[in-house]
Amino acid sequence: MSIAENLQLIKNELPKKVTLVAVSKTKPITSIMEAYGAGQRIFGENKIQEMVDKQLQLPGDIRWHMIGHLQRNKVKYMASFVSLIHGVDSIKTLKEINKQAKKHNRVIDCLLQAKIATEATKFGLCGIEIATILNSLEVKEFKNINIVGLMGMATFTDDKKQVRKEFNNLKVLFDKFKTNHEELKIVSMGMSSDFKLAIEEGSTMIRVGSSIFGNRN
Ligand SMILES: *Cc1c(COP(=O)(O)O)cnc(C)c1O
Repeated sequence: MSIAENLQLIKNELPKKVTLVAVSKTKPITSIMEAYGAGQRIFGENKIQEMVDKQLQLPGDIRWHMIGHLQRNKVKYMASFVSLIHGVDSIKTLKEINKQAKKHNRVIDCLLQAKIATEATKFGLCGIEIATILNSLEVKEFKNINIVGLMGMATFTDDKKQVRKEFNNLKVLFDKFKTNHEELKIVSMGMSSDFKLAIEEGSTMIRVGSSIFGNRN
């Protein structure tokens, strides 16, 4: 099936409140343009340099999301255009994003990455660390960032019960923080293999790559 057909199939299943991020990492410009031609405007990349290269070659109305783990020293390269940064996991990184956003007179939206998977390889913050950041006086002084939600990645497993439980944990955490932090609006969870589960558990933003563009090599 074509990229346009894949996109349409996913969109047909998407509730209105759920935003689709098309994850185009490793995929060529031609593939992204095919999705763009089918109406997709939000694309996600996990490497800053790759996103910068693509942004320069592609239409200006694309909204670029950084979904990968961040290298602080590269934040400056995307600060002029990045639309949402999903994987923030420290005050140090927020400080750098704030600094670089200020140079461009922008306010950059960020999500805090929560650790919901049991795997040691996945990055992320525990509930207490998230609370610390949300309530930090230092962070409140960062006028060029907005923390607008949470992001999480479930364990890589076929055990649907476990994946569902991890997504539920993230949603419960989100709802808890939202009572005191109205600015939190986005729960970014769900990828090709598990976005249906994620939506059932309250995701408002899914990040889908291979189900749109085909497998990555
Ligand atoms: C690659 C990636 C995705 C998309 O994965 P697919 O399985 O191809 O849909 C989503 N989120 C993050 C953080 C990723 O790195």
